[in-house]
Amino acid sequence: MSKNTIFVLFTILIVLGSCKNETGSKQSVKKEPEKHWSYQGETSPENWAEIEKNSDCGGKSQSPINIIVDHTVPVNNIDNLKVFYSPETVINKVENNGHTIQFEFNLGDSIQYKNDVYHLKQVHFHEPAEHIINGIRYPIEIHFVHKSDQDKLTVLSVFGEEGEVSRLSVFFKTFLPIKNGESKEINYPIDLSFLYPKSKDFYSYSGSLTTPPCTENVNWVIFKDQLILSYDQVLKLKDNMPLNNYRNEQPLNGRKVYFNYEK
Ligand SMILES: [Zn+2]
Repeated sequence: MSKNTIFVLFTILIVLGSCKNETGSKQSVKKEPEKHWSYQGETSPENWAEIEKNSDCGGKSQSPINIIVDHTVPVNNIDNLKVFYSPETVINKVENNGHTIQFEFNLGDSIQYKNDVYHLKQVHFHEPAEHIINGIRYPIEIHFVHKSDQDKLTVLSVFGEEGEVSRLSVFFKTFLPIKNGESKEINYPIDLSFLYPKSKDFYSYSGSLTTPPCTENVNWVIFKDQLILSYDQVLKLKDNMPLNNYRNEQPLNGRKVYFNYEK
């Protein structure tokens, strides 16, 4: 056998071998494991822009922010926001996805914001809060995520603060405890109106999702008043959630924050 023949045979063997690998066991294909974002260590929020390559996480209009009340622009147009939540809206399921506890809803609840209609998609919790008011971080922030037919996003945000017992305990009984990676089918109606504070005054600005892909052009509506939770309720939520699931404060970069108040 000439050296050339040996070379050709060797090449054929390699090619056959690699074909077998492709069609056969997929495990033999080595791939760098993807780094998944988190709230701690190497994959914490400070590194999201780097590890989530095609995201907006390094953008100029990111959330959350520190709202300095004296710097907000007062506006008299609270009517920009109309909430149409019905007591009959059905919760599909609740899930602890390792980043938060999240509820998913059937189509039904919606809001109107600046003349566009947005449908409620899901509600989830952050512990402690992501947005800060005059440097103060509340124990809980609840995000109501809404999407329009044109895929535009509006998030309503309510802070939770410790105080007297609220109706939330009944609500919690329906789904807690829920462990990391666990989801529960619910499929019955719930009235979300009790999650709203009495005063409808709110702060608003243009920001982003606070988790990758950190999509920008999100309308933020942040209620000024807090929802009161009992100490036990706050503890119960803390025991059932991924802790410290908040993103660090993002620079305003010249954006305006409005204070929308009732006449
Ligand atoms: Zn959120």
